[in-house]
Amino acid sequence: MNIKKISPGFFVAGQISVADVGAIAAQGVKTIMCNRPDHESQGQPPSSEIAAAADGLGIAFLDVPIVAGALTEDDIKVFEAACRDTQRPILAYCRTGTRSATLWALAEARTLDVDAVLSATRGAGYDLTAMRPKLIDVGARPGAVPPPVSAGPADQHDVVIVGGGAGGLGIASSLLKRKPNLDILVVEPGDTHYYQPGFTLVGSGIFDRKVTRRPTESVMPKAVKWLHAAVAGFEPEQNVVVLEDGEKIAYRALVVAPGLKLDWEAVEGLVETLGQNGVTSNYSYKLAPYTWELVQGLKSGRAVFTQPPMPIKCAGAPQKAMYLSSDHWLRNGNLSDIDVEFRNAGGVLFGVADYVPALMKYVDKYKIDLCLNENLVAVDGPAKKAWFDRTGSDGETSRVEVEFEMMHVCPPQTAPDFIRTSPLANEAGWVDVAPDTLQHVRFGNIYSIGDACSAPNAKTAAAVRKQAPVAAENIICMLDGRTPVAEYDGYGSCPLTVERGKIVLAEFGYGGKHLPTFPQWVINSFEPSRLAWYMKEQMMPGIYWHMLLKGHEWLAEPQPKQETN
Ligand code: FAD
Repeated sequence: MNIKKISPGFFVAGQISVADVGAIAAQGVKTIMCNRPDHESQGQPPSSEIAAAADGLGIAFLDVPIVAGALTEDDIKVFEAACRDTQRPILAYCRTGTRSATLWALAEARTLDVDAVLSATRGAGYDLTAMRPKLIDVGARPGAVPPPVSAGPADQHDVVIVGGGAGGLGIASSLLKRKPNLDILVVEPGDTHYYQPGFTLVGSGIFDRKVTRRPTESVMPKAVKWLHAAVAGFEPEQNVVVLEDGEKIAYRALVVAPGLKLDWEAVEGLVETLGQNGVTSNYSYKLAPYTWELVQGLKSGRAVFTQPPMPIKCAGAPQKAMYLSSDHWLRNGNLSDIDVEFRNAGGVLFGVADYVPALMKYVDKYKIDLCLNENLVAVDGPAKKAWFDRTGSDGETSRVEVEFEMMHVCPPQTAPDFIRTSPLANEAGWVDVAPDTLQHVRFGNIYSIGDACSAPNAKTAAAVRKQAPVAAENIICMLDGRTPVAEYDGYGSCPLTVERGKIVLAEFGYGGKHLPTFPQWVINSFEPSRLAWYMKEQMMPGIYWHMLLKGHEWLAEPQPKQETN
């Protein structure tokens, strides 16, 4: 078996056997696709046998048989739909790999330059030059990357970026670093840019909230154009975004980075009581100082910390607020009179099991009552009562009433409404991208990074710092007519502030893979670390303002394409 890599998410091989499937799994392949009808030649293993072997190793199997020499338009559509709905990387096979490579070329020619498609297949050993006219024909379909405009209309740009938060400004700078003359428009409605990772330290009295905000104008890269407006919709087949006032802006490449929606309204009574009656949240710049006020004032009673269903941004933030508050009460001698409860809609303390033992030591130390599978649904601030839906082991849900003195709420989170209802969304509402290249799975000239994208990484600024260079590299390739070359490994980080002065630094990629930045002897990720705290308090704000937002990719350079053979 000889696996050829055509793109980061798509590999090709000639006929494989059941015995090959283990080696394929070891290459990280998530889906095997058969492009050959059964019984085509003698001795050919039936696709059902390959499917069973794949299933045994947790690999998806797709049967998309193509009759040799009789490839139809419908075949391409079936192939495109199959690729869209499955996990990558995909390994497609037929007798020699040519049919699979041809299908890929016809699908990709929709958005990529034909020379780029031919060069990618040639690089993998499949010379499809004879197909050039057909590929050009396919490329004329809607959604293809439009050609550059030398003196185009004012509302047309090489790259349009939706959102000027961590992701939007990070990628703008990473693009300019690679091509200083690129015509980039950032559409951002806000006058203020927030360093949200600092909110946790505001809520524990360590930062003044003023250090977490700067005027948008001061952080916008000088070489981009800033459009002070909000995007309301997308017409990807025309390569335009639609603003709230109905104006349309055209692009050659689009980056979608509007963050996520904090859905305060989803909890009955919450909006009415936030910021008073002991109800607070570090998820808001306005409210984080109130958290610290409440923590300092609480001497006895019940302190409830809530966590909604995943995904949320910075999945550790609800716990961080709880540990830092408990640490304060412990140091002041009040903890024995305060019942701390963690009411978490999820079934585990933290999504990556490796970090749970270190966190459990603090749960025990602060005598925290861990209430899993409990989702906050309503609150009555003046009565100091909250209601949770508790899901039992039998799947039945019951409503629980809880009285509190103080409650720190992490709000439910969704994709922004204008994303959820757009043609860019997946079923869950997030911008539907390939997790490795961050390229949209249906519209090849659209990329998405940050909290709004569907990639299953931890939604953090740390993830954005790695995503921005990868997507920038791939967009430059695309605009130059080359295939995407950079891959994102799912890196995200969550500095869990378990006490004032110590952090359990969780750093992991796709599938919970441990991805530490520093050797274990510098920072042991599975133990509380003083150095990690020093970095969070003293270095991270600078890394955010001066490195992420400015395109300095120290320890975040895009990974070169891994050759698979
Ligand atoms: P954002 O930075 O939120 O930016 C989105 C931008 O899009 C905003 O400027 C918004 O105005 C704009 N926008 C919205 N709608 C539109 C529209 N219609 N048109 C145009 N623009 C629009 N991360 C870490 O790495 N480490 C941490 O310790 C950490 N702790 C956190 C603690 C808290 C309490 C919170 C709230 C977050 C924390 N994060 C942390 C997460 C981190 O802040 C986010 O993951 C990161 O900011 C995501 O970047 P983004 O660009 O996707 O979204």
